[in-house]
Amino acid sequence: MHISTAEKVTKEEWHSRAADLRPETRLFIDGEFVESVQRKKFENINPANGEVITEMARGTEEDINLAVAAARRAYRSGIWSRMAPRERMDVLAKFASLIEDHGQELALLDTLDMGKSITEMITVDVPFSAHCFQYFAETIDKIEGAVTNTASDAFHYISREPLGVVAAIVPWNYPLMMAAWKIAPALAAGNTVVLKPAEQSPMSALLLARLFVEAGGPPGVLNVVNGFGEDAGRALGLHMDVAKVGFTGSTEVGKLMMVYAGQSNMKKVTTECGGKSPQIILADVADLDTAAKYAVNGIYGNQGEVCSAGSRILVEQSIYGEFLARFTHYAKDLFVPGDPLDPATTMGPLVSKEQQSRVLGYIDKGKQEGATLNFGGGQPSDFDQGYYVEPTLFSDVNRKMIIANEEIFGPVAAVIPVSGPEEAVDIANDSDFGLAAGIWTSDLNTAHRLARDIEAGIIWVNCYDHGDMTQPWGGFKQSGQGRDKCFDAVLQHTQTKSVWFNLGS
Ligand code: NAD
Repeated sequence: MHISTAEKVTKEEWHSRAADLRPETRLFIDGEFVESVQRKKFENINPANGEVITEMARGTEEDINLAVAAARRAYRSGIWSRMAPRERMDVLAKFASLIEDHGQELALLDTLDMGKSITEMITVDVPFSAHCFQYFAETIDKIEGAVTNTASDAFHYISREPLGVVAAIVPWNYPLMMAAWKIAPALAAGNTVVLKPAEQSPMSALLLARLFVEAGGPPGVLNVVNGFGEDAGRALGLHMDVAKVGFTGSTEVGKLMMVYAGQSNMKKVTTECGGKSPQIILADVADLDTAAKYAVNGIYGNQGEVCSAGSRILVEQSIYGEFLARFTHYAKDLFVPGDPLDPATTMGPLVSKEQQSRVLGYIDKGKQEGATLNFGGGQPSDFDQGYYVEPTLFSDVNRKMIIANEEIFGPVAAVIPVSGPEEAVDIANDSDFGLAAGIWTSDLNTAHRLARDIEAGIIWVNCYDHGDMTQPWGGFKQSGQGRDKCFDAVLQHTQTKSVWFNLGS
């Protein structure tokens, strides 16, 4: 890790840097920052205090059209798609290194935008985003075609080509990292990209675009249009010249992406959507203390605004009381709401007032449905300016309750007692979602059986949220289709071409 991200910075220094920050607010099209055609703006709010950070250019359909046209020109020119693999690798590797060099600024932009702690940005989001570009840079000369075994009067090869213009539509919970997961494999495969960040977290993507050009990325290859989902996002989804949409966000909007594709040009669509992931803790767990600590991190990390949040905690009855005691101890120790610019803070505000009201609404539903509220349940009294919600624990939850079924996307854990592994699997699979699951057991057969039987794209055994770039990230059922990270993600941004030669006799 470069000095720029590893250096220790105090809370006062972060505040002073935040005050001095002059973030880019325009759109980035064809290698330049430009105002939106209609000169529309939207206010960008800091969720830690409700204050306006700055006004951002608000792109609409006209700006999307310009960005897609630029991306299409760049694609067709071959300046990127036909660049020698080694050169494209060099650009992406340099880009990764520039992300590390500008790590503190990128961290600050996301922390101000969506409220996550600066320490998490510096230790997780920035280095993992840089690493994502490095990983996909290294895939470029490993994308291979094939020569098939045909009759001797023919020669047949299959090559892999890029798709064209790829749209990336991303959420606000990991603004930089979700953008990296989408952009990196698309660029590695030789596509050009139009990125639409979430309207709640528009800033870091613009710095990313500038760094791409600094790294040697040609104009038009990476474009960024900020704007609202229902106009800029919709225009991208419906665009006739977009070959693929890579979407991360809610299941509801993920379904819309598939509708847009059907209503327009049958573009390819991959979706990474919501979850209600189970963390299963069985009585034969080797170390209940460690499991409780992971369970706490699994639900309260990033304020619970994580697609793979382990929000349903299924605990075998004989260890239920002991688990709740340990979970409560670690939750209070590890997650205390605070100023996200204080390096000691582990839990910031939620992204917006709407998200805060939504989460508090679910807490009310939990109380009305008769779950036991063990702790939390409101807004911390010393942070009434920002959009905070206390870490909250409901126990004695049953599988029928709303808080056991719907994605809350906030720091709310629902603990459900289970009689054993069979009931745990039954409840785990009784969900519209299937993103991730955690299994805690010391019995090898039980671990393998549950890993086989649980309907989810990602299974963790005796851990939670572990992984690296080789791990396919995506879900079963309504958690989406397609996989981020992993080598397959770069192949998803290619299409095969079959070339058949008649050699004569
Ligand atoms: P969202 O669906 O509201 O928004 C996501 C993106 O879609 C934003 O850029 C938004 O502007 C755009 N959008 C919204 N409405 C649109 C419309 N009508 N047409 C086109 N675009 C539109 O999601 P969010 O609230 O930003 O993010 C939270 C969701 O993201 C959660 O459900 C979470 O689980 C999911 N998520 C999933 C993963 C994963 O890898 N599975 C990762 C992170 C977040």
